[in-house]
Amino acid sequence: MAWVGYVRHDRDKSVQPIAWAGYEADYLKTVNITWGDTERGQGPTGRAIRSGQPIACQNMLKDPKFAPWREAAQQRGYQSSLVMPLFEGAEVFATLNIYAAEADAFNPRELELLAQLTDSLSFGILALRSRQKQQQTEAALRLSEEKFSKAFYSSPIANSIITLNGGLILDVNHGFEGVFGYQRQEVLGRTVIELKLWQNLDDRLKMLQQVRDLGNLRDYEARLQRCNGAPILCRISAELIWVEDQNCVLAAIEDITERKQAEQTILRLNQELEQRVEERTYELTQATAQLQLLNQELQRSNQELEQFAYVASHDLQEPLRAVTGYTQLLMAEYGDRFDATAQSYAEFVIDGAKRMQQLIQDLLAYSRVGTRGKEFQRTDCNDIVKEALRNLQVAIAEHQAEIQVEPLPHLYGDRSQLVQLFQNLIGNGIKFCQQDCPRVQVRALRRQTDFLFQIEDNGIGIKAQYLDRIFEVFKRLHTRREYPGTGIGLAICKKIVLRHGGQIWAESIPKQGTTFSFTIPDHSYE
Ligand code: ADP
Repeated sequence: MAWVGYVRHDRDKSVQPIAWAGYEADYLKTVNITWGDTERGQGPTGRAIRSGQPIACQNMLKDPKFAPWREAAQQRGYQSSLVMPLFEGAEVFATLNIYAAEADAFNPRELELLAQLTDSLSFGILALRSRQKQQQTEAALRLSEEKFSKAFYSSPIANSIITLNGGLILDVNHGFEGVFGYQRQEVLGRTVIELKLWQNLDDRLKMLQQVRDLGNLRDYEARLQRCNGAPILCRISAELIWVEDQNCVLAAIEDITERKQAEQTILRLNQELEQRVEERTYELTQATAQLQLLNQELQRSNQELEQFAYVASHDLQEPLRAVTGYTQLLMAEYGDRFDATAQSYAEFVIDGAKRMQQLIQDLLAYSRVGTRGKEFQRTDCNDIVKEALRNLQVAIAEHQAEIQVEPLPHLYGDRSQLVQLFQNLIGNGIKFCQQDCPRVQVRALRRQTDFLFQIEDNGIGIKAQYLDRIFEVFKRLHTRREYPGTGIGLAICKKIVLRHGGQIWAESIPKQGTTFSFTIPDHSYE
């Protein structure tokens, strides 16, 4: 029996049978040989591998080092063996093991012949192994070439192989045709200079220098040129490679013209936007400053006007009292000597003076909203409305008016002005009625930051075009004979609401009724 064992460099330093011939009967499955320095490594194979010498076991039954395999060998009729090491250079890479059926089977002559055989065997095995290795290398090379060629040709990016010296184009892909507009066949064998691919040849030299120095180049941006002369902005990555016995540049060229334009547009738009924001902010700051100056001026002129109205109305009362007083005296002392015409003239004078007095008092009351206002305090609106209704009790009784008041909130305000506000609005609701039985409803709604009050009546209503004007001083829609009054009530209401930081407005359906609404900020919210 003969077998070849392969020297393995694994942890157990095992010897793996790889080929055998002759009567074996599963002997090799059981031998379990190692070339390590252990008991199973003391047999002829282990020693031959370690020493690099042919080792013979002339009598397996007697040789104590063969003990581990003795029984198995005896069963198969082996009596002696010879192990020849096979060399690759100085290293044993395998063994040839030969078994004989009789003891002392190997004499020196046979040993010599076997040594020659072993050399041939080594040569044969090594030649086979190196051929196999070469085949593997060739296959790997083929695979890598195939991969490269696929990547080169099918990439949408322009790929080119160009000689480092001279710029001769050796190969390009379809991507190159797309970017530069040339057919592949048109450019092969021509130089990049001849085709004027570069707008600026200095850029090319700079790129080549880097490729030469570093062996590669990443994301190099340069202006190139299409076949029709159109400029294109490109991003180039390149590698130095060895092709056809010379240094070449393998370059991937990406057309980034549109992307760059889009980037620049975005950049420009951003800048424009920033500038516009800056301009608007400046305008806004200016406008705010202007507004504050508008506001201060208004406040000052309002104050002046109020002061003037107050002084004027106060000073006007004096001569008016003289007119009324002396006219009354005239009537009392000389009235019986007046004929009917003189008497009616005197009555016109008295009536006119009274009206003037009323107007002056109204004006005074109006100016006092601003000048004589009290500090705000926490006020229960239910009490306010009760007081307003007490002041209106004569009018309520006269018109048999029905007043419904829903629960009202507490708020911060000027108590007496709030009484006046409710009194004017409820009073108007009673006064401007069309039936015998006027009905007025008072309610309040708590909103996010303020209270909304509503005073709704079922009266004569107001035409839409007058809804704003009724809040102006002395603006009336009726004669005094139809409905008494001077037209100051709503102007005072507006002034009171504005002083409290709210707003007032009216909605109406003529002949059905009017709803006055006003808001007062809810300071408890803050
Ligand atoms: P006055 O009541 O003295 O006329 P106001 O300023 O209170 O003055 O009202 C101005 C005008 O608005 C009134 O003359 C009237 O024409 C109209 N008006 C006010 N309140 C009502 C109301 N509830 N219904 C209909 N018209 C009204």
